[in-house]
Amino acid sequence: MSPAEAKKRIESLSSELKQHNYNYFVLAMPTISDFDFDKKLEELNALEKQFPEYVDSDSPTQKVGGDITKEFVTVKHRWPMLSLGNTYNEQELLDFDQRIRKAIGDNFEYVCELKFDGLSISLTYEDGKMVRAVTRGDGIQGDDVTTNVRTINTIPKRLHNGGYPDEFEIRGEVFMHLKAFERLNAERLENGELTYANPRNFASGTLKMQDSSEVAKRPLDCFLYFLYTDKLLFKTHWESLQAVKSWGFHINEHSRLCSNIDEVFTFINYWDKNRFGLSYDIDGIVIKVNNYAQQQELGFTAKSPRWAIAYKYKAAQAETELLSVSYQVGRTGAVTPVANLKPVLLAGTTVKRATLHNADEIEKRLKLHEGDWVYVEKGGEIIPKIISVNLDKRNPLAPAIQYIKNCPVCNTPLERKEGEAVFYCPNDEGCPPQIVGKMQHFIGRKAMNIDGLGDETIETLYQKGFICHISDIYNLHLHSEELKQLGRFGEKSINNMLDGIEKSKQMPFEKVLFGLGIRYVGETVAKKLVAHFKTIDNLASASFEELIVAEEIGERIAHSLITYFSGEKHKEEIEKLKAQGLQFISDEKEIILDSEKLSGKTFIISGVFENYSRDELKDIIEQNGGKIVSSISAKLNYLVAGDNMGPAKLEKAQKLNIPIISDAELLGMIG
Ligand code: AMP
Ligand code: ZN
Repeated sequence: MSPAEAKKRIESLSSELKQHNYNYFVLAMPTISDFDFDKKLEELNALEKQFPEYVDSDSPTQKVGGDITKEFVTVKHRWPMLSLGNTYNEQELLDFDQRIRKAIGDNFEYVCELKFDGLSISLTYEDGKMVRAVTRGDGIQGDDVTTNVRTINTIPKRLHNGGYPDEFEIRGEVFMHLKAFERLNAERLENGELTYANPRNFASGTLKMQDSSEVAKRPLDCFLYFLYTDKLLFKTHWESLQAVKSWGFHINEHSRLCSNIDEVFTFINYWDKNRFGLSYDIDGIVIKVNNYAQQQELGFTAKSPRWAIAYKYKAAQAETELLSVSYQVGRTGAVTPVANLKPVLLAGTTVKRATLHNADEIEKRLKLHEGDWVYVEKGGEIIPKIISVNLDKRNPLAPAIQYIKNCPVCNTPLERKEGEAVFYCPNDEGCPPQIVGKMQHFIGRKAMNIDGLGDETIETLYQKGFICHISDIYNLHLHSEELKQLGRFGEKSINNMLDGIEKSKQMPFEKVLFGLGIRYVGETVAKKLVAHFKTIDNLASASFEELIVAEEIGERIAHSLITYFSGEKHKEEIEKLKAQGLQFISDEKEIILDSEKLSGKTFIISGVFENYSRDELKDIIEQNGGKIVSSISAKLNYLVAGDNMGPAKLEKAQKLNIPIISDAELLGMIG
């Protein structure tokens, strides 16, 4: 293939795969099989290796679905991770029961467990220590995600209570609680990031992130439900669950021992009604024959055990009429459409609204028309989704819903950047929900955390004309008499507020930077930017190239920063805030270098190290004048490699003949 052809193919594969990621992770509506996806990804990977000059840092081989990177070591499972037979109705379950009776007689018990809707994980323990965590993958082999799994609090890293064998494997389901899902998704929406369609996608996206410190920020949980040992230690599955619990594992408390299929049905019916009261999603019930000897007798088919089956619940659905679509404008100007529905009862709650995500969802996926009858479905989330339209009930004259062209509040024409799903109102200076939202974001708990000042006060002060920009907040003390005259606030609360505002001037630069509400600059990004650039002046004058070498700063964030700092209004505002005494310089002590031995040299650190964390190595390099860069290129001087380094990185470095050194060799270089 000629270089020109390769470049074209790389580009087209990249954009195709990005779309599939979006369909899968955001819409949760994949239009391609995992197998075909992987084939395309492999083709892209191979081409990128052959033509490294055309690799984009944003390539799907580097990232999957926004945060997800595909650089894990593949590990073969000692015992294959099979799937479970599925059934959706009582008759099939009765048939299952009959088959078992025929094979082993009537003398047996079932264990019923909830079927958690997450992703399965296999953990290996040696001498009481967790040594490996592997995803299911294709069932035969999966990804080694040990470092990420170590961040999950409810998975013991070391067992304390005796009785466990020297070596065993334990399997379970990693998932995210609904509350955490909603909170994190809301934050992502505010930051202009893509949101996840359901907790399962969020959990699997999280487990496949490259940076374990990021994983640690997203609370995951795990229920364990299978124990594998060389020698059978227990007679029954139930016994093994109790033992595993005593060793310190998180076992679901709702599992039940049932002596016949009628009891199983009681369990199924109970949870069909009560599942929406759980703090996590389940999609069914798993029924397992309890006795291990009987399990062995029943054996396996090629795909699944004959001694277990999953009874899947039908999604809770209802049909109702679409009344209208309304649009909300967030603080970054992002517009989100919401469907207003004729109230309908669904799984015990009255539903009046449904999320619509974005314009594609309305115009391309659902092709909504005015007055359509739609099916809404409830996962665990509070706001349900529209699954599809009942075309039989469509009025042939009803016009298609057109996504709005102008901001619903300030009427400015909306904009959409290429490749993005979300429309924005660009009038950040004059659009009320953006103005108020930005100030509310600034004072918020994670940003400046100003005592005595809340969202409603901001709204009131804006409406009364006291504040319009963040810097106006710091002039409020000049208006304390007028504030008293308003009659809305007591003297004490005004004083509290002014005190809080004054104190906030001491908040560190990273909080201020996050508080400014620059699109895509969330808490973590703000920290990374401050660590790298130290001052707002350095950051504001950084070029695109200088921005993207900073850790975790991709092209999207870099573009957003450049756009922000080129705005005259933004510059003025920052000058005002500086004059008012806010912090725009990192309070980290000025770095005094230990030596200049690495000066002019660039490094990438990859993998895990026995004696140092990656951050420690980074500090050592920087303390001696070296520089950390973000991606492997022919210009890179050294790759510092630890264990479990991604194979793609390794190969790329070898191909470009970059010296690969160990942490010991690095230390040797500085003596
Ligand atoms: P399916 O993906 O529909 O074939 O269902 C099989 C999957 O259900 C397994 O791979 C597990 O990830 C998951 N699962 C969830 N809860 C349980 C449970 N209590 N016991 C066994 N598997 C479970
Ligand atoms: Zn607007």
